[in-house]
Amino acid sequence: MTNEYQIRVKPHVAANEQALRSYLADAYGFDVRTLTAVRILRRSIDARQHTIYVNLKVRCYVNEQPQDDAYVRTVYPDVSGGPQVIVVGAGPGGLFAALRLIEMGCRPIVLERGKDVRSRKKDLAMIAKTQQVDAESNYCFGEGGAGAYSDGKLYTRSKKRGSTEKILNVFCQHGASTNILADAHPHIGTDRLPRIIEAMRNTILQSGGEVHFQTKMTRLLLVGNRVTGVEAGDREFLGPVILATGHSARDVYRYLNEAKIPIEAKGIAVGVRLEHPSQLIDQIQYHSPEGRGRYLPAAEYSFVTQVDGRGVYSFCMCPGGFVIPAATDCEQIVVNGMSPSNRGGQWSNSGMVVELRAEDVEGDDPLRVMHFQQQMERDCWQQGNRRQTAPAQRMADFVNNRLSYDLPKSSYAPGLISSPLHFWMPKGVSHRLQEGFKAFGRMSHGFLTNEATMIGVETRTSSPVRIVRDGETLMHVTVEGLFPCGEGAGYAGGIVSAGVDGERCAEMCAAWLQSVRKK
Ligand SMILES: Cc1cc2nc3c(=O)[nH]c(=O)nc-3n(C[C@H](O)[C@H](O)[C@H](O)COP(=O)(O)OP(=O)(O)OC[C@H]3O[C@@H](n4cnc5c(N)ncnc54)[C@H](O)[C@@H]3O)c2cc1C
Repeated sequence: MTNEYQIRVKPHVAANEQALRSYLADAYGFDVRTLTAVRILRRSIDARQHTIYVNLKVRCYVNEQPQDDAYVRTVYPDVSGGPQVIVVGAGPGGLFAALRLIEMGCRPIVLERGKDVRSRKKDLAMIAKTQQVDAESNYCFGEGGAGAYSDGKLYTRSKKRGSTEKILNVFCQHGASTNILADAHPHIGTDRLPRIIEAMRNTILQSGGEVHFQTKMTRLLLVGNRVTGVEAGDREFLGPVILATGHSARDVYRYLNEAKIPIEAKGIAVGVRLEHPSQLIDQIQYHSPEGRGRYLPAAEYSFVTQVDGRGVYSFCMCPGGFVIPAATDCEQIVVNGMSPSNRGGQWSNSGMVVELRAEDVEGDDPLRVMHFQQQMERDCWQQGNRRQTAPAQRMADFVNNRLSYDLPKSSYAPGLISSPLHFWMPKGVSHRLQEGFKAFGRMSHGFLTNEATMIGVETRTSSPVRIVRDGETLMHVTVEGLFPCGEGAGYAGGIVSAGVDGERCAEMCAAWLQSVRKK
């Protein structure tokens, strides 16, 4: 017999299987010895009041064992003889497109400018050691894309529940913990993501697909208005193209613009990373001087307000994580965040950003928002002594227009340098951040503090360009056989939504191939 229950328990009960079984047996009148298994279907923390509760939806198995896997398996057939599709980019958009193509009987050829996910790690470590960024292998470029060395947060505002569940199930099939299916705010962690990404690559290879690293698409091959493949250095790869090159492939945007392939400017959000001691965030969010205690995870927060007609909000929070150098070239500083699976670090960080609309940047150049973003990153690099040492300021000093005399310790490995961010960041950004921080301080006592450090600059929040596609076919509006995909195309933001978009592009591409073959 199985029964499902919605329960609300204290954290120590939710964290301990024995305690949970006893609770369920007492609450629902079972003999605990007959309760053979308990599966957690949904888990969320309710920290709105002083007493913290964990809401659980559980399935109890009485005198029987679960017969199924805790996740839904996808079958990947051999597609060695299938029609070939070129997938440019091995981020979540490209990888999920490739896997879905296999399900649809097509043979994906994945081209990735960066290195495989393990080799990439050495280049990341070199950034702090040498203060240099490898333009082809960094936190944004390489197998797994921008999401590989991240917090691996897997929540999305997308309402398409079936599609997001599919993405989570595919992650589980490739080694992610099934906790991600239950948690309200699932995340994987940077220590676990590389193994999962390798397993996804192996599925592609074992099914007859190909994955080429250090293979950068340099241009599309076009016959009239139809794409026939791509050029990558001195090699050509033939087939329709799913272009999933992410928000940082500025050379791709420049190439499309020069080739007069329609693109348009798109709004982004820009600001800083804000880093607090994680203990302080735990104390604030869990309303206790003891912080999270033994049974709760590092606390999260989320803030949003409006200042002078633009949104100011926290973005991509990494509890117990690190601030990392996410630039993709020299002469720029870009920061972002990542966390290990246990979120056990000393600091908690989050992007604190201001909405920037395309109309906020003068002109009609489709690359104008990208140029604005580039300028902020270059200014930041100049303020950071032309190295990866990031300009930083204490939070309350920033709000009060004061240069910080010294800076707190930080997780940012290349180092920080005290700098008046209130002075040199664009006024529309710094003024709104100041007002936003004051509002967040009022919403959450203790949040606005000089114990927190702002680190410049966070600019790669989404794509500054949209590669315009048809809403139904997902094909580019003027180039047949080209499917702009994922975050770089301007149609997704985040790991899961890029994955969902990858799957949709694969479906549309397979359907288009079939229609072309029939003709
Ligand atoms: C440090 C960091 C932490 C993040 N944390 C999270 C998080 O916790 N949760 C979340 O949801 N999102 C997070 N994000 C955002 C998330 O990673 C992206 O939204 C997501 O990766 C977008 O997927 P994508 O496949 O569209 O593009 P990308 O992941 O950017 O992948 C694009 C790929 O294309 C390759 N490429 C580019 N140009 C070419 C070319 N010319 N030829 C061949 N290959 C090319 C790149 O090397 C890259 O691998 C984070 C981002 C960063 C940078």
